[in-house]
Amino acid sequence: MGHMTAEKKPAIFILDTSAILSGKPLTLDIKRAVTTSGVSHEIQPGGRDYRTFLFLQEQGLSVHDPTKESIRKIHRAATESGDIGRLSNADIEVLALALDLNQDQQTIIITDDYSIQNVSYILGIRFEPISQSGITKRFKWNWRCSGCGKIFTTHVSTCPICGASTKQIVVKKESLERL
Ligand SMILES: [Zn+2]
Repeated sequence: MGHMTAEKKPAIFILDTSAILSGKPLTLDIKRAVTTSGVSHEIQPGGRDYRTFLFLQEQGLSVHDPTKESIRKIHRAATESGDIGRLSNADIEVLALALDLNQDQQTIIITDDYSIQNVSYILGIRFEPISQSGITKRFKWNWRCSGCGKIFTTHVSTCPICGASTKQIVVKKESLERL
């Protein structure tokens, strides 16, 4: 090693609630896995899921919280993509933590949640599904009035023209390469 090339650090894995509760054996190095306190709060104390969570913590899973700045960025990106309504606070924390950690090491979110995958893709963060094959299309959401049929590109729950309720629809699916 003649010169000072930055050595590639091993990836950090960020587990969302679905990853922790999957009950599947995780084939990753759990000592390099992190989650957020919001995720831990989604797991009811006392049950089997909580025992799984405690077990993972004993094995080396650590809990970190994201910066407020990254949470704001995730809110913005997910609002633009139309995913915001399907993301829990814990989901947003997972994405924000990935954004924080992604700055100086490779970060991979382990999740089966399509909205987390979609926002990850938009932000250039890698993800790996646990049990699903992962999204192969990128969704763009619009809202269509159930009365007059007008399409809105931003979230509108009641049509300003006819007053009927709107429904969220997928308008564009573009193929994406797995990062
Ligand atoms: Zn309408």
